[in-house]
Amino acid sequence: MNVFARILRGEIPNKTVVDSAHTLAFHDIAPSAPVHVLVIPKGAYVDFADFAANASAEEILDFHRTAAKVCEITGVKPGEGFRAITNSGAHGVQEVPHYHLHILGGRVMGRMVARTD
Ligand code: AMP
Repeated sequence: MNVFARILRGEIPNKTVVDSAHTLAFHDIAPSAPVHVLVIPKGAYVDFADFAANASAEEILDFHRTAAKVCEITGVKPGEGFRAITNSGAHGVQEVPHYHLHILGGRVMGRMVARTD
């Protein structure tokens, strides 16, 4: 079982930002920016594509409304802005196979994608 599934089961503590019917938002344990919050669906979707294809309309709405609340609560919107990132699979360098949106802010985030050349 992956670490986010264990967080959802209450087996691992988290610093919750928003807990809604279908979605949990919590602070990343190793923040990459002053604001670094993860938004995850409570359903076991592997990545963005799985969630977008298979989640119910209610889950999708709740997820995005929760992400918007996170932006407001953390002050990045309205504010100086933020970056929302989601990784998938090996090329996306996804560590945890449970869909999550990273919301990052509190500093200029730099280039969107690191150059590898
Ligand atoms: P990704 O590489 O997109 O799969 O991102 C996984 C993220 O989960 C990383 O930013 C980790 O720091 C974060 N993470 C891993 N374990 C925990 C945890 N127990 N609580 C909060 N965040 C975590």
